[in-house]
Amino acid sequence: MNLREHIAIVENFPKEGISFKDITPLMDNGNAFKYTVDQIVEFAKEVGAEIIVGPEARGFIVGCPVAYALGIGFAPVRKPGKLPREVVSVEYDLEYGKNVLTMHKDAVSPGQKVLIIDDLLATGGTVEATIKLVEKLGGEVVGCAFIIELTELKGREKIGNYPIKTLLQY
Ligand code: IMP
Repeated sequence: MNLREHIAIVENFPKEGISFKDITPLMDNGNAFKYTVDQIVEFAKEVGAEIIVGPEARGFIVGCPVAYALGIGFAPVRKPGKLPREVVSVEYDLEYGKNVLTMHKDAVSPGQKVLIIDDLLATGGTVEATIKLVEKLGGEVVGCAFIIELTELKGREKIGNYPIKTLLQY
């Protein structure tokens, strides 16, 4: 399966100078989407994931079918003000300014083996913050999986020694 042909590259979106990788054509194609999810399911089995954690919004699209296929849970990571109950928060730096991500305090149990899933690894800021949230809750990160990795941005360096799976590199 050549996943690359199902990614649309949109220049200067959402702003000048950004070459945006759009995964919606991949999601539109049943075979490509199933293949993508199946690949990540295999990785989840290898690392022994007991729950999937995914950041909004595209982490939900990729993470939920993986959780469903394995019959395990999915816990969302969201921007402040979106989760209705008590949360833990982590702040991280963006190119300009700061961002905050939150998770429900009871989303992950101490010692639970967590696989973090998102659509794309760029600078690694989002996944680094997600790892911190999971660890604040006592969860054990067993891996991080993405459809796409933008290698020049070196996001891997922020993940450190956790196992990483990426299906496509640019
Ligand atoms: P990072 O925090 O710099 O690694 O950026 C990763 C986050 O930004 C992920 O949640 C992605 O969904 C989003 N993102 C960054 N660049 C792109 C892109 O080209 N296509 C789709 N999502 C992107």
